[in-house]
Amino acid sequence: MHDSKLAIKLRNIIHLRESVMAFDTKLMEILACPVCKGKLEHNKEQKELICKFDRLAYAIEKDIPVLLESEARRITEDDA
Ligand SMILES: [Zn+2]
Repeated sequence: MHDSKLAIKLRNIIHLRESVMAFDTKLMEILACPVCKGKLEHNKEQKELICKFDRLAYAIEKDIPVLLESEARRITEDDA
């Protein structure tokens, strides 16, 4: 069956995408702040994703960004 083959192929692609969790620039493009849906800035030194709008810093743990507001660090004036 042509359709089921396609479905399996599609599922494999999705599975592959899920397993490739490495943080890279392509991922960066699709990442958005979970609060305001705005673009995030990558702070390579601190290994954080910064939302300037909400003043939140999302940690990147083992190359996986933790995009949870509850886990995010509040950016103080000193950091900016
Ligand atoms: Zn935001």
